[in-house]
Amino acid sequence: MSSQIQRRCQPCTACCDGWVRMVIEGTAVYPGHPCPHSNGHACDDYLNRPVDPCHNFICGWVQTGSPLPESFRPDTAGVIVLPDARRWQNRPVDVAVPVGRSIPAEPLDWLKEFAMQEGRPLIYMEQDSGEQDYRSDQNLVAYGPPEFQNEIRLLLEAGEKLW
Ligand code: SF4
Ligand code: SF4
Repeated sequence: MSSQIQRRCQPCTACCDGWVRMVIEGTAVYPGHPCPHSNGHACDDYLNRPVDPCHNFICGWVQTGSPLPESFRPDTAGVIVLPDARRWQNRPVDVAVPVGRSIPAEPLDWLKEFAMQEGRPLIYMEQDSGEQDYRSDQNLVAYGPPEFQNEIRLLLEAGEKLW
């Protein structure tokens, strides 16, 4: 009998704290601008949280059967993974966003290795290191075959939404 990994969010509130861009009850949430309902370790209105995105959003660490290591809990690892955020040549593409200015080297190296081994191209985000304030639009790095990198570059130049 196989057992699947089951995790729970709390005390992580990394997505609520603005590291994933979303709109909660008309309020934009993005890096540097947490959801007004997050107290940094829980939601202060959990029973009334909106279905979209709060019920619907499940990051790669907390999803059932996650391949990510236990150490990848987003608030402590410094990264939120959005698995299978888009497709490229019928392969899933994972997206990783930093909890902070950039993804720490150790989890980023793990994600790159995972991308190579599993044939899952990776897109990861980072802020400009020289700026004091966080920006809602972050720099994007496409990691995978050159054809994948080129396709993502062309989509960005065309102003297309990637996920
Ligand atoms: S980032 Fe993941 S683990 Fe953390 S609160 Fe959001 S869904 Fe849960
Ligand atoms: S309403 Fe609650 S669950 Fe939803 S983003 Fe805000 S703090 Fe998180």
